Amino acid sequence: MTPEAALLRVIHCLDRALASPYKTRAFVRALDVVRSADPVELAERARDERLGELEGIGDATASVITEALAGVVPSYLSKIEAESEIELTAEAAPYRDALRGDCHLHSTWSDGGAEIEAMAATAIDLGHEYMVLTDHSARLTVAHGLNEERLANQLVEIERINGDIAAAGQDFRILTGMEVDINEDGSLDLSDEMLGELDVVVASVHSKLRMDSKQMTQRMVMAIANPHVDILGHMTGRKIGKRPESTFDADYVMAACAQFGTAVELNCRPERLDPPRELIDLAIEYDCWFSIDSDAHATGQLEWQPLGCNRAAERGVPIDRIINTWPASELTDWTTTP
Ligand SMILES: [Zn+2]
Ligand SMILES: [Zn+2]
Repeated sequence: MTPEAALLRVIHCLDRALASPYKTRAFVRALDVVRSADPVELAERARDERLGELEGIGDATASVITEALAGVVPSYLSKIEAESEIELTAEAAPYRDALRGDCHLHSTWSDGGAEIEAMAATAIDLGHEYMVLTDHSARLTVAHGLNEERLANQLVEIERINGDIAAAGQDFRILTGMEVDINEDGSLDLSDEMLGELDVVVASVHSKLRMDSKQMTQRMVMAIANPHVDILGHMTGRKIGKRPESTFDADYVMAACAQFGTAVELNCRPERLDPPRELIDLAIEYDCWFSIDSDAHATGQLEWQPLGCNRAAERGVPIDRIINTWPASELTDWTTTP
């Protein structure tokens, strides 16, 4: 294992463990140093225990580099690898096996930490046949959301990357998409024309999460009923222990999802796990479609799908109602608005 590969794997595991960005940043900085350093000089410094003299290398990163150069798996990596492992219950294994893709994830185009290519490479490693790139829409300025022009540029970029993936002989496709903001009045933060061009549209509430129940219900139902919307993202907006669930009439919302063919997302982020159990039960009762999505903002976070699978298995979500168990062509047939 090269120092570069070891540092990349550490970063992957830290992302998977939802470590503080501060902690991850030290390894990202060390990765930059390693990539720009002369390999011979790096090896000499490691041998003489002088890596720490380089700006951007601390004790932890120095020992990862030194151990990798010595041909052993760095002890820090073994530790974080084991600590960050995502548990999949026996009951949930058939769910994870059935998943062919991931319909909600971000790249550096909005607030993600990894390039599109890196996200795709990890998705391929995980055995996926496709991933839907769903960066944020323009209104979410804190997340560097994409306006129409940037989205149009991204579509060109995706086509180019898909070409490279195909040329490399990989049976994998990046589908186009967006996590579009549901505005306060229930309209969407993207024109109908652009929405119609995307393979998969996830719609989510990111603002005014505390609006009163009646207004929130109306807002959500309007978005769910929009023919371009395919998936309702993190329905309640909760962050466990930090932010309460939004209030809305769950019967109306689930009935609308079932009626208009909008899938209920089981958001796998450990701090979200949204919707909560009782709402999953309700969605099953209404015979809704589901999508089990990582909402990854870094490569390591693509490994979070087992967390949603565990929930799905526990509540008894029918596997054949989960849209990302389908091949890409079936999924895009389903999402295409006639
Ligand atoms: Zn979101
Ligand atoms: Zn997201």
